[in-house]
Amino acid sequence: MKEDTTKVNKYLTLWEKYKRIDQNSALNFAIEAEKLSKKLKFKDGLGEAKYRRGVILRDKGLNVESQKYLEEALSIFSELDDLRTIGFVKIDLGKLKQNQSKHKEALSLYLEVLPIAKKNNDKNTEARIYNYIAAIYATQKQYVEGIKNYEHALKLVREINHLPGISACLLNLGTVYATILENDKALPYFKESLEIKESIGDKLGASRIWYKLAMIYLEKKQYNLAENNIKKAYDLVIAVDHPNHFFDVQYGMALIFLEKGEHNRSIDIAKKILSNAKASKYTTLSIRVHRLLHKAYNQKKEYEKAYNYALKVIAISDSLYNQNILSVTNDMEAKYQNEQKATEIALLASENKSKTITLAKQKNERNAIIAFSIIILLLAMLLFSQYRLKQKSNDKLKELDRLKSNFFANISHEFRTPLTLIKGPIEKLEKDPNTPLSIESVKMIKRNSNRLLNLVNQLLELSKLDAGSLKLELKEGNVYKCLRVAATSFDSHAEQRNIYFKISIPDTVLWALFDRDKLEKIIYNLLSNAFKFSEDSSVIICKVDCIDTSLRIEVIDSGCGIAKENIPFIFDRFYQVDSSTTKEREGSGIGLSLSKDLVTLMGGTILCTSEINQGSCFTVTIPIHEIKVKTKIDVTSSNEMIITDTKIETFEFHKHDSRDIPTILVIEDNLDMNEFITQELIKKYKIVQATNGKDGWQKALSNPPDLIITDLMMPGIDGIELCAKVKTEIHTSHIPVIMLTAKAGLDNKIEGLETGADDYLTKPFDVHELQTRVDNLIKQRQKLRHLFRNTTTQIDPKKITVTSLDQKFLEEVLSLFEANFSDPSFGVPEMQKALGMSKTQLHSKLKALTNESPGQLLRNFRLKIAEQLLSQKEDNITQIAYKVGFNNLSYFAKCFKERYAVVPSAYYIHKTK
Ligand code: ADP
Repeated sequence: MKEDTTKVNKYLTLWEKYKRIDQNSALNFAIEAEKLSKKLKFKDGLGEAKYRRGVILRDKGLNVESQKYLEEALSIFSELDDLRTIGFVKIDLGKLKQNQSKHKEALSLYLEVLPIAKKNNDKNTEARIYNYIAAIYATQKQYVEGIKNYEHALKLVREINHLPGISACLLNLGTVYATILENDKALPYFKESLEIKESIGDKLGASRIWYKLAMIYLEKKQYNLAENNIKKAYDLVIAVDHPNHFFDVQYGMALIFLEKGEHNRSIDIAKKILSNAKASKYTTLSIRVHRLLHKAYNQKKEYEKAYNYALKVIAISDSLYNQNILSVTNDMEAKYQNEQKATEIALLASENKSKTITLAKQKNERNAIIAFSIIILLLAMLLFSQYRLKQKSNDKLKELDRLKSNFFANISHEFRTPLTLIKGPIEKLEKDPNTPLSIESVKMIKRNSNRLLNLVNQLLELSKLDAGSLKLELKEGNVYKCLRVAATSFDSHAEQRNIYFKISIPDTVLWALFDRDKLEKIIYNLLSNAFKFSEDSSVIICKVDCIDTSLRIEVIDSGCGIAKENIPFIFDRFYQVDSSTTKEREGSGIGLSLSKDLVTLMGGTILCTSEINQGSCFTVTIPIHEIKVKTKIDVTSSNEMIITDTKIETFEFHKHDSRDIPTILVIEDNLDMNEFITQELIKKYKIVQATNGKDGWQKALSNPPDLIITDLMMPGIDGIELCAKVKTEIHTSHIPVIMLTAKAGLDNKIEGLETGADDYLTKPFDVHELQTRVDNLIKQRQKLRHLFRNTTTQIDPKKITVTSLDQKFLEEVLSLFEANFSDPSFGVPEMQKALGMSKTQLHSKLKALTNESPGQLLRNFRLKIAEQLLSQKEDNITQIAYKVGFNNLSYFAKCFKERYAVVPSAYYIHKTK
């Protein structure tokens, strides 16, 4: 035959013909039909073939495979929207479930199809359904209901004269009657059924009936009839491949022979069964056969053998018992379902007449419940997802808000520092137009305005990118040269910081169309980050090459690196790994985000690999199409860029400043700013510079200055921490502190003051304001010291100190004096010991607070007491001198004269008068 759909249909017809005669052939026809349908893409045929394959597999007891094919068929027919065939498959699927004792599932499938069958007047299908429902009743031992349903089914198939249906219903009725031991009622059903089976050539079916008849006759002890019938069953079963039934028939034979007293024949057959049937697969059969053997040998009086078979029966029973234990949960579930089914079936029976309406109603109700549940579920999902969305967007907004405020705080710092540096010299010029600005000041202005410009450009570029209006401006040029010029602009910076900076860019010409400005921005950003996040004396490499059409730029540093968990975020806008106020480096978190956007705009990629404390490597890959030009290009003419970044001078010379004026310690990490402040104040004050908090603190401690000016945001120890240190350490607690910060706002002001900063200046500040505040604080301290000096009677520590620590210190000194002033051996070393300070520490502390050295202070204290005693005239001069710890009268007189401009005797006389 031609390979077409007709052939498929022929296969399917053959299946129909063979399904009751020869299951294996039927199965093969189904497989062939399936194969051909697949080849022809004949969906209908494919569905039919799978359906048929499933049915045979089910009847062969291969439930899992059967389910697969039936379900596949069902989905094909559902696609084709073929209600009739869907119904068929569902019934067969139901039968499969029934075979697996899944009665509930089976029943619901049957009930789904029943109304449709009725509506279509499909009596065959309706009969099948009643037949199957009846079987469920029978399994539940509800025989009356079972018989009723079988009879109803039989009536239906008889109406259409469907022979296989009729024979099936007859067989089933006979079986139920045989089960309830109504053998006489069973026989006519069996016989009629057998006739039909034989007429339609259903060998298996006929064999089964012969077997059943044989068993009935055995029961009736009509052994010859029984033997006849079982032989007929045997003759038929060997023609079909059905091991289960084959062993049943053999066992039946053995049983009959046993009952007939033909022990040896019975034993022979039984032993054949055992050698053919695998005990593991046919456990119950095996028990039955062993029991039979035990019985046979027992009857033969061969007790030893009988005993052994009995033992085997026990052993197999035990193993079966164990198997049963294993599947006990399944069984229990099945039983539970069975029980449920019993009630359901009872219900079903009572509603039998109005079944269609009820079923439709039930279906509608079920559909309504399903629809309602779905709506509720959808609503719940919707509400939940909205809630999640809201929560997510809230979180996102919060995060964005945090990033934004962080960004503004940082960006204001970024702006304020260069602005202050620009404003300063200009204000100076405005005030004193006749003094021209130094070249350093002009360069500083230029540098800082460039910095501002760059920052503004970056922000503008970002907003353009966001608006999608940033376009590539392609121009022809030498890519290598552009990159080399950009990279070499970092040379001087590298030299200044003693960084080994290696530029590896091919010495050739890569002539191509590219956006010079954007490419420069990318490499600038990467290189400035590399420099920013590297220590002095480290290594930075800039490598460029171009393979085929891919330009690769690598910037490698051996700096602080980025932790793995932070790498995914570094290209996010405003993201900074360290966004604290104490962060080591300035930054806005824009650079990398902008670079990434620019690279993307160019159709390239940017990657970062980094390891904390090891360094980072940024790799940019951009597609570039080299233009092969025949004429030699003048590589020197384009792209000139002069960077004259003058090295910032070191400040060593200030250390040798020998002027006798107050000293100011300037702690500021921005070198331009540091220098700017220094230049402002150097005329009136000695300046000591520090570029970070740690260095500043050490300098303050080793050589306490008269005033400290410190920046708030600094690497390591920030301004706040430094101030707290200064104010809580006795050696420095007297030093006034001015805090500089870029962050404007009350919070910071309060913070600055709370930490004990004596004054607070927001960048950009007016240079005069700084000058004034410095002068004021210095003057204030001098005044206090003056106050002390002029105190001729009693020293009041409260009046001359600003901090409580200093007050306490001074009180301690005074009580030490009070306790020891009359002891001539009490001097500076004893003071040092008692206060736990070194000579210089004690000296500088007391000098700062009182403007007097420790020795001077003690002597003046003694003289003050002497002066009081002299005025009281209670003792003579010599006595008084000794009382206040002077053991040399002339020295006492000399000191007294120095302090009070009169000799003690004159004072004594004068006061006496
Ligand atoms: P910023 O202005 O803060 O430098 P960027 O967008 O350029 O902003 O960089 C984002 C963050 O990525 C930086 O704050 C820094 O933490 C990290 N980073 C960038 N480059 C490097 C590098 N070469 N080494 C270590 N960290 C880096």
